[in-house]
Amino acid sequence: MNNYEQDFPILKQKVNDERLVYLDNAATSQKPRAVIAALTNYYYHDNANVHRGVHTLAERATEKFEEVRLKVKNFINAPSEREIIYTKGTTEGLNWVARSYGMSHLKQGDEIVISYMEHHSNLVPWQQLAQKTGAQLKYIELLADGRLDLESARQQITDKTAIVALTHVSNVLGVVNPIAQVANLAHSHGAIMVVDGAQSTPHMKIDVQSLGADFFAFSGHKMLAPTGIGILWGKSRYLNEMPPLEFGGEMIDWVQLQETTFKEIPWKFEGGTQNIAGVVGLGAAIDYLSQIGMEQIEAHEQALSAQALPALEQIKGLKIYGPLNPALRTGIISFNLDQLHPHDVATALDMEGVAVRAGHHCAQPLMKYLGVAAMARASFYLYNTEQDVEQLVKAIKATKEFFK
Ligand code: PLP
Repeated sequence: MNNYEQDFPILKQKVNDERLVYLDNAATSQKPRAVIAALTNYYYHDNANVHRGVHTLAERATEKFEEVRLKVKNFINAPSEREIIYTKGTTEGLNWVARSYGMSHLKQGDEIVISYMEHHSNLVPWQQLAQKTGAQLKYIELLADGRLDLESARQQITDKTAIVALTHVSNVLGVVNPIAQVANLAHSHGAIMVVDGAQSTPHMKIDVQSLGADFFAFSGHKMLAPTGIGILWGKSRYLNEMPPLEFGGEMIDWVQLQETTFKEIPWKFEGGTQNIAGVVGLGAAIDYLSQIGMEQIEAHEQALSAQALPALEQIKGLKIYGPLNPALRTGIISFNLDQLHPHDVATALDMEGVAVRAGHHCAQPLMKYLGVAAMARASFYLYNTEQDVEQLVKAIKATKEFFK
């Protein structure tokens, strides 16, 4: 793959006198010039509120806003752009499914099935839904190497299951879950399949139809777009019947003193002025990613993992979580070094210019399941290079020496 580092101005800096190696991509990605320019251009030339105006700027802004819906539809192979709903991000999308679909469909005795590897955003909304409806929340176990245990999935998903919600890629273990298989299981028991696509959409080709998903949520900021914009895709047969959650401007059809009718999907879910610039930025990010090709990006990150994993394995006292076979994971590598606290490790790596994350990674039940309090995590993206991996390995070795 070409070197894309030069497209990202922020990467051209030194941190603590060292070349910056940004490996916190699972938390958020950096933005290429093309996305920054799209935002600037929008504010320089097109800024207006959408849908409500007939003047030229309002029409131009509306056109851009709706154009991106079509781009997103194609990017994830959704059947219709009417099924693409703008959100703040993955968290909001998953909450909406829980609150709108969940509250209108679930009853006492129903079951919601998730896994032990879920991010809090795909856990707490279901916990809340279970508490409010009297449904029971159940967990699919993991295999010893961190992959999803399909046998456990078969046991947990039953005719009582109403919703199965699973992450496509774990933000901690880097494993890719067999969504299509689990979706088949869910559907065979009459349950719907909700997918958290936060860590997959930026890194691989997504086809919501072949995944067998009923809902799929992701965030723009992890895939080169600005913060505050995300997507919830859902099958129109569900979206059509779901009640809106935000009432007010933009989402209404006709308002009378005592009664209101709402717009059709997707607009009935988009109450109030939306993050229009964020949508424009997301469109530019999708163009940028599509030009490179998602297959290329996935292969590049897997190659970086294949370079990093054996080198890291050789460091005595370094424990890697998740399978060691790079073919079974994406470019997310979580680890602990000796008995050191991961915050100390991350601070020491920062001294070497290497930015990684440390903590519970918004997955406290997973940390407990694995018997650790926290981990450090390095995560790659398309602009990372072999040199970055070398600097990471060198910095971890230096950290080990430093704390000896
Ligand atoms: N799900 C997973 C797997 C994630 O990694 C994240 C973010 O780290 C989220 C959900 C939440 O995404 P956001 O904070 O953009 O809503």
